[in-house]
Amino acid sequence: MTLETIIGLEIHVELDTKTKIFCNCSTKFGKKPNENTCPICLGLPGTLPVMNERVIELAVKAGLAINCNINTLNKMDRKNYFYPDLPKAYQISQYDLPICQDGYVDIETEQGSKRIRINRIHMEEDAGKLVHDEFEPVSYIDYNRVGVPLIEIVTEPDIRSIDEAIIFLKTLKNILEYADISDCKMEEGSLRCDANISMRKVGDTKLNTRVELKNINSFKELEKALLKEQKRQSELYKYGEDYKIIQETRRWDSAKGKTIPMRGKEEAHDYRYFPEPDIIPLIVKNEILENAKASLPELPSIKKERFIKDYALTETDASIIVADKYLANYFEDIVKEGADAKNASNWILRDVIRILNEQKIEAKDFNLPAKELATIIKLTKENKINSSSATLVFDEILKTNKTALEIIEEKSLLQSNDSSEIEAIVDKVIFENENVVKQYKEGNKKVLGFLVGQIMKATKGKVNPKIANEILSKKLN
Ligand SMILES: [Zn+2]
Repeated sequence: MTLETIIGLEIHVELDTKTKIFCNCSTKFGKKPNENTCPICLGLPGTLPVMNERVIELAVKAGLAINCNINTLNKMDRKNYFYPDLPKAYQISQYDLPICQDGYVDIETEQGSKRIRINRIHMEEDAGKLVHDEFEPVSYIDYNRVGVPLIEIVTEPDIRSIDEAIIFLKTLKNILEYADISDCKMEEGSLRCDANISMRKVGDTKLNTRVELKNINSFKELEKALLKEQKRQSELYKYGEDYKIIQETRRWDSAKGKTIPMRGKEEAHDYRYFPEPDIIPLIVKNEILENAKASLPELPSIKKERFIKDYALTETDASIIVADKYLANYFEDIVKEGADAKNASNWILRDVIRILNEQKIEAKDFNLPAKELATIIKLTKENKINSSSATLVFDEILKTNKTALEIIEEKSLLQSNDSSEIEAIVDKVIFENENVVKQYKEGNKKVLGFLVGQIMKATKGKVNPKIANEILSKKLN
């Protein structure tokens, strides 16, 4: 029996706002527990939520970025459940009329481009965080995250493999970063993912019982959790025990390397959704829609096509550079400073990425000014410095913050391109190496390299080897 895997993802994205969704508390990460709280987000009786307009703007922008229809009339609902990290015992979310619906994201797989449909995007408030004491049977509650604005992006079950799930999430993260929707820091919980996974016989069209894997916060964990659950389910199918697969929510335990049942999956009616009476239905004003459209930057897929067309980059090179918004901007800055595009891309793919790996930093923290790298590229192209000097200058700028020209001057790295000067040195080397010259004239062409080496040595590597070679060959023939 050949099985296929069906995956749908629900991605929670913390929006990049300064204040919470219904109050003026800060959303800043890393504050002392319960520092960012007030009566509204603590859900004290008598308080009323006030919708943060910035949340609507960002949700609309996210919707446009992933090709959704915007519901200009939408509303907030109460989703009832009791959790200790949600003091009101209900979450304000959106149920039957979310802000965005029916979008899509195209992903690049090894089999080509594939469209993953987006069912909806809804806005909601985040819950708090439980901190369990390691030594005492005590749990603490940190409400700082309560009321931080979220959007939840829900895909259709269009994903057919774990690889596709990873590619989709990377592509989506990239789009959200470009559009400045969120900082997308998975390690801080700004981007988290729930995965629904089920299996079926290849050729079947109906969807079988699915299992939901909760709160996955890295690509690696997503891959591991899906692999494990895929294996668990396919074995049950293999032995005819698929009745044991029930609709439930399982938690991924990274340390134990397995999924653990948390609770039966609630259906919508279990939550007893009803319209939030404290917030009137939301109308997305034309002005917000127009502003969101205008503020949407060039998105990664469009940028990639442009890099290939305008700068003649290969598909692979363009993909790597565009996969990071900061690298893509850096690349264009270098080109704007006058470096040629092919060399700029080579420098990024080789040396910039080398430094990012060595120093374990992200592209946004790479601090060699584009202007200086452009200078290095231009001088190399004009044969003013050779390629090993170029790398030396690059590394020195990072260490010393000096300019390229200062370092070249200090270390006298400028190559001589002056033919008459080089000619005099060539003559001297020919004169001093009579025997080698004789061998060359007798047909041993390999000794030419030795003579060029002598020229480089005599000038401490500062002549242009290409010109030296040309002059030498001319004189010997
Ligand atoms: Zn508050």
